[in-house]
Amino acid sequence: MKLEINNVTKKIDQQLVIDNLSMRLQAGVYGLLGANGSGKTTLFKLICGITRLNSGEILYNGQDIAVHADEFRSILGFLPQDFSYYPDFTGMKFMLYIAALKGLKGKLAKQRCIELLELVGLADVKGKKIKKYSGGMKQRLGIAQALINDPEVLILDEPTVGLDPKERVRFRNLLSSLAENKIILLSTHIVSDVEYISDEILIINGGMIQNRGSVSELVQEIEGKVWEVLVQPNELTSFYKKYAISNQKSQSGGIVLRVVAQMKPAENAQNVQATLEDLYLYYFREGGLIQ
Ligand code: ADP
Repeated sequence: MKLEINNVTKKIDQQLVIDNLSMRLQAGVYGLLGANGSGKTTLFKLICGITRLNSGEILYNGQDIAVHADEFRSILGFLPQDFSYYPDFTGMKFMLYIAALKGLKGKLAKQRCIELLELVGLADVKGKKIKKYSGGMKQRLGIAQALINDPEVLILDEPTVGLDPKERVRFRNLLSSLAENKIILLSTHIVSDVEYISDEILIINGGMIQNRGSVSELVQEIEGKVWEVLVQPNELTSFYKKYAISNQKSQSGGIVLRVVAQMKPAENAQNVQATLEDLYLYYFREGGLIQ
C-alpha cells in the first residue's frame, strides 16, 4: 500500500495553506507534527476528500483518489478533531449507528462492533452512555468508529488531546497493534506524543513538509546547537530576548537555561544532546528558524 501526495496546493481565501506539498507513505504510523495553523487539518481534509485541492494529485496505490473517490472512501477511516457523538447513546448503540451509515447490517454489524469495542478496550462499558465516558474512552470510541470498515488508511486528527498519561500509553499500544498493515497518519502539536507513538515524524510548517525521519535522524539537524548555560536572575530577560529557550530550571547558584542557538551563547555554555523538543522550538519559534 502506498499513499502519494504530489505537489499539492490548497488556497483558502487567497491564503496558501498547503504549499506544493509532496510526501509518500507506506504502512506504518506517521506523526504529523506542527504548530497550530501549520496546515495539518487542511491536509487531512484533502486526503479525506472533504475539501478539494487547487493543484497537484493524491494517489493511492497509483490511482487518483479524486477519480476513484468511492473506492478510496471504502478503505479510509477518519477521526476528525471535532469528533461528535451522541452523549445519550451507549458505546454499542453509537457503533451500530456508524455501522449502519457504512452499510453494515444485522449480525455482521453487531459482531464487528463488539470486536472493535474489545480491541479498543471498551467492551465492558459498551452498555454505558457515552456522556459517562472519560476523555480517553471517548477518544478510543472515536478510533473504533474510524475502524468500522477495516480501513487501510487511517487518519487521526489530534487524537491525543485530553488524554491522561495512562490513556496515552494505552492509545499508543493500540496504534502499534493496528499499524502492521495500515497507513496511520496522525497529527499533533504535542512533541512528546508524536515521539512515542510514531515510527516516523513529519514536520509540517507553513503548509510544507519541512523534514521527516525518526527522532534521532531529525535531531541531527540541531546537533551541536543546543546548550545549557547557568545564568543569574537579572540576565534572564536578555537571554529570552536574544535566544530560543527550550527549558529553564532553578538550581543553587542560579538558573540553568536550555538554549537552541547556532553559536555558543555564553562563555560558560555547555553543549548538550539535542531532543525533539529542541527541534520543535527551532522550527516553530516565533519569527521562524533560529539564526
Ligand atoms: P492546523 O490543523 O495545523 O492547526 P489548519 O489546517 O487548520 O492548521 O489551518 C491552516 C491555515 O489555514 C490557518 O492559517 C487557518 O487560519 C487557515 N484556514 C483553515 N481553514 C480555514 C477556513 N475554513 N477559512 C479560513 N481559513 C482557514
